[in-house]
Amino acid sequence: MAEILVLVDHVDGEVKKVTFELLTLARAYGDAAAVWVGPGYEGAKDKLAEYGVSKVYVAADEELTSYVVAPKVELLAQLVADRSPAAVFVAATGEGKEIAGRLAVRTESGVLTDVVGLADGFVGEHSIFGGAIVTHAKVTKGTPIIAVRPNSTAPEASPSTPEEEQVSVTLSDAAKGARVVEKVVQEKGERPELTEAAIVVSGGRGVGGADNFKLIEELADSLGAAVGASRAATDAGWYPHTFQVGQTGKTVSPQLYIAVGISGAIQHRAGMQTSKTIVAINKDSEAPIFELVDFGVVGDLFQVAPQLTEEINKRK
Ligand code: FAD
Repeated sequence: MAEILVLVDHVDGEVKKVTFELLTLARAYGDAAAVWVGPGYEGAKDKLAEYGVSKVYVAADEELTSYVVAPKVELLAQLVADRSPAAVFVAATGEGKEIAGRLAVRTESGVLTDVVGLADGFVGEHSIFGGAIVTHAKVTKGTPIIAVRPNSTAPEASPSTPEEEQVSVTLSDAAKGARVVEKVVQEKGERPELTEAAIVVSGGRGVGGADNFKLIEELADSLGAAVGASRAATDAGWYPHTFQVGQTGKTVSPQLYIAVGISGAIQHRAGMQTSKTIVAINKDSEAPIFELVDFGVVGDLFQVAPQLTEEINKRK
């Protein structure tokens, strides 16, 4: 079977869940070959082997992670030229999409980003216009480069004993054009990471202030969920911008998305419309978010959210 290269998304050796999703997806269409860039592989190899990896290309050189995304692109471009994989899968994160775009240019290939499903022949599914339209697209030139959104596939373990191959790349001057000068590791709270969480509870302008966001946090904690926010809430300074969901924020696709005091503007939908089940709490029955929901509660969030939290906590 042809190889599918899967770029491992990891932070200092800690592999993100989306990688296991990509490996699961890759196994359905060929041999899943992981590409590891940077240090930390030894600590992660057993975990990768749980997901049916046939081979791991390891580029452990620390220098590769010193220069933003360009070195990863050069390495992948070299692997595409040398190994002729059937496709390359990356996570549709900010970094993953930049890598996908650059790699497509380097390899003169087509690219699909923000894919939420895949069919035979690497036909990618996209959800657009607030989820109202689903489109299917296929790469017709070169090697399909496909950026898949986190949470699009359920990761399935399949133990394997991957072959390992050390690879290296000589970086061009162009790849060294921008260097990482500082890494700020954000404090990891108790909650799951927003783009990887299975459940997200987001608050909007209806929450009415920074202090009131504790209602959103309490509801999120009762469900083991991540907290998100609309741009109205982040612009008002009620919640940090890193938690913004939407066109100019993060894209999430959890199993369950609960929108609290959010109207459902198109720019917000762009970041959450592919969530599997959507619930909204809003006092305005005409709010556009209700066009999108699986379950809606028309009511005052200051009454509904605490009752919901209490009820969920009771049932634990
Ligand atoms: P509002 O639209 O003001 O809605 C608040 C809702 O709360 C209302 O529906 C109201 O009925 C309800 N409410 C009020 N009080 C209560 C209560 N007590 N109980 C229950 N419900 C209550 N927005 C994003 O979210 N993410 C983005 O990434 C983003 N990017 C943008 C990019 C561009 C270029 C532009 C132009 C806009 C962008 N926006 C984005 C802004 C977007 O257009 C909306 O303005 C924003 O999403 C509105 O946020 P909201 O729903 O919280 O506020």
